[in-house]
Formats: sequence, C-alpha cells, structure tokens
Amino acid sequence: MPTYEYECQKCHQRIEAVQKFADAPLTTCEHCGGDLKKVFSAVGIVFKGSGFYKNDSRGASSSTTPPASTPAPTAAPATPAPAPKSAD
Ligand SMILES: [Zn+2]
Repeated sequence: MPTYEYECQKCHQRIEAVQKFADAPLTTCEHCGGDLKKVFSAVGIVFKGSGFYKNDSRGASSSTTPPASTPAPTAAPATPAPAPKSAD
C-alpha cells in the first residue's frame, strides 16, 4: 500500500497516511483542521553520477580533447524571416 505524505498548510504538520489508491485523499489536518496538501517526496530516486564515463582508449588517439571550456555561443535571435508577400 502506498504511503502518502501530506503537509498542513496551516500548521505545517507532516502527516503520513497509508492509503489505498481508491481511498480519498486527506484534505483536513487532524491537528488544526487546516488544509492538507499532498507532498510528493522522491524517495528512492537518486540522481547520482551523471553517466559520462570514458571507454578505455585503445591505441593513441591524437585529437580527442573535448572542449572543456567552450565559450557560450551567442544565441541568434529566433526571429523568423518575413516571408515575401506577393500582392495578388
Ligand atoms: Zn494543521
């Protein structure tokens, strides 16, 4: 059964509720009667170690120097070229 976490908007009390999917979500704080808001906690999701690993280089690769510090390219303004209007 999934555990839902709510936070009271009034007293900021955190409430954990084990509910079925079919159960209606809690809306009222049992402590102060304030509005409860569901908290989506990303438990178990870990973004760690952005996957960029080097393959073992075979042989002597001459030019494999990635641009470590590329100057930010000046973004061209995305203005669409005005289409030539043909007068009919
Ligand atoms: Zn409350």
